[in-house]
Amino acid sequence: MKVLLIEDDREIVDAISLAFQIRWPEAEVVSTRLGQKGVELVESELPDIVILDLGLPDISGFEVLQQFRRFSDVPTIILTVRSDEVDIVKGLEWGADDYIVKPFRQLEFLARVRALIRRQSYPEQEVVASGPLRLETATGQLHYDGKEIALTTTESLILTHLIRNAGHVVTHSRLAEAVWGEDYPGSVDSLKVHIRRLREKIEPDPGNPKLILTRSGIGYFLAKQ
Ligand code: CA
Repeated sequence: MKVLLIEDDREIVDAISLAFQIRWPEAEVVSTRLGQKGVELVESELPDIVILDLGLPDISGFEVLQQFRRFSDVPTIILTVRSDEVDIVKGLEWGADDYIVKPFRQLEFLARVRALIRRQSYPEQEVVASGPLRLETATGQLHYDGKEIALTTTESLILTHLIRNAGHVVTHSRLAEAVWGEDYPGSVDSLKVHIRRLREKIEPDPGNPKLILTRSGIGYFLAKQ
């Protein structure tokens, strides 16, 4: 199990390395403060997961992601101080699987790393469907409206859960548990961002959704097709 950390803040590198040492000693942490070096390490070290900061001294985290996505599907979590939704959505759009906003709690961080790796290692091989939506859960490939739409691991998990419960409201905490293994403070905001991105991929008019509907303050549901 190898973790590649692309992060220029020494304190965060130390904190994350220490967290792994204590709670997940078999994980090897490789780190660099430079984005360009990070791209090279994705290629040479073949990490199992990448933790990527957005603000780096040489090139931005977005560029790093864009460059290594040309040759690698490695699960990637963006680690950012920017709670700005626009940045997060852009990160997901460019192929990140999840994101964590700094400052983060150590346990939450490790839980989300574990959840992403578990999902990646043991994807459930099945197809879930509702009306015209057909999702291959192992690959995140969505067939809809004659199109093939690639979903990130997180989007795929959210949609799987909504499809399985089509027509019924799925609460925020149940969705968070399905995606990250546990509910945590801030999960409602994270879900909102992933849902927004999903709508942009599948709704003809994402601002006026007809498929993935919001039950304000409670959760989301997939309109019965
Ligand atoms: Ca930084």
